[in-house]
Amino acid sequence: MRIFLFVLALWVGLGVACSRAAVPPPPAELPAGRNVVLVLIDGIRQQEWGGRAVDDAGKPVRMSEMFPVLLQLRKRGLWMPNVAISNPAGVSLPAYADIFAGRRQEKILSNYPPVEDFRSHYPTLMQEARKQLKLGFDGVGLITSWGPLCTIAFTPPMLPEDDFYRSCSFKSNVPAPTEPPIFFKPEVYTHSRTDVDTLMDVLREVPKRHPRLLVIHLGDADEEAHLHQRVQRKVGQHYGIFHYHQALRQDDYLLGRIWDALQGDPFYRDNTYLIVTTDHGRDTAEDPAQWASHGRCIAEKIRTKPCSGCSGVFALAVGPGLPTKTARGTYLHTDIAPTIAKLLGVSFPSATGKPIREIVEPASRAPQRVPTTTPPPFLTLPPTPPPTAAAPAPAGVPAPQPAVPPSALPSR
Ligand SMILES: [Zn+2]
Ligand SMILES: [Zn+2]
Repeated sequence: MRIFLFVLALWVGLGVACSRAAVPPPPAELPAGRNVVLVLIDGIRQQEWGGRAVDDAGKPVRMSEMFPVLLQLRKRGLWMPNVAISNPAGVSLPAYADIFAGRRQEKILSNYPPVEDFRSHYPTLMQEARKQLKLGFDGVGLITSWGPLCTIAFTPPMLPEDDFYRSCSFKSNVPAPTEPPIFFKPEVYTHSRTDVDTLMDVLREVPKRHPRLLVIHLGDADEEAHLHQRVQRKVGQHYGIFHYHQALRQDDYLLGRIWDALQGDPFYRDNTYLIVTTDHGRDTAEDPAQWASHGRCIAEKIRTKPCSGCSGVFALAVGPGLPTKTARGTYLHTDIAPTIAKLLGVSFPSATGKPIREIVEPASRAPQRVPTTTPPPFLTLPPTPPPTAAAPAPAGVPAPQPAVPPSALPSR
């Protein structure tokens, strides 16, 4: 009996030892030095990103035709189809306020908060990264089509030594610019530059500043959707979903250009996480014109929460060590900033969102940099080195026109 007990004890002891050995070690601290680029594309509806879009004639629009780049990136990273907005309004500014601060910003409930509330009320991801990583002015970048995003990107007062590169709409905060800003399109949408001009800012400024955290916003698609409503109201004509879809096709292409620019730059290649999301969906009620708007849904008669179609959004994350799969979990807009903070090695105590486990845990085990042995896989075109001098404009081509003054109420 004693021998039996001894053998039993030995067996149990060995079993415990073996099971201890089989438990993987806790993930090491995230190595410093990685970069994150967050791309925010305004107002993509579930029907479009879910592959259920139809054109003005009711014909299906294929996902591969509207979002070829997004589909390519989905194959390389973590696709999160179950993300919910964290604000009760279903409009842009509250969503961006929450994304930037990683928490609900109670005082920002519309696109037009009172002047005294028109700011971030909590530290933003950009501020925390700038401060904790001891980055300079260029170490964090915010480049957006829509102007107000620069205003809600920080908690005032912003001291010059804490500021970071902010370029929103037609203004940037560069202290002593050496060259005048250049815009190739006039102010098509009130308070916004076009997304193509935003891309030009990215392509010109990012290679020379190399921000470790870069936030980019593209807004044309939402503007084109709202235009449908305005045209209908003012002249009674059908503007059409065609233009919204065209803007989405364009933004998908611009996303590819951003990806390719990162892949073509040794500072970013193999060392950068790209995260993509949208600020809200669009109304999905039976009224055929509901797609043009978002927020409180009149047709659904819901006054206490945004339209069901506004709340459901997606997120996508691509980067070193991340799994290539569709995540089954549900997440909130407010989880995005804490996730990025974790990737950058920044603490974010004021955020209430939680880091997305499927991103931060694999990333914490990935080596610092995963070098590719093959040339970078470009999605649009390989980046070309900038020309040494600006070529003169061909005769007869007019110089770019300055932005025209705002002429109508903004419609986000
Ligand atoms: Zn929006
Ligand atoms: Zn809008």
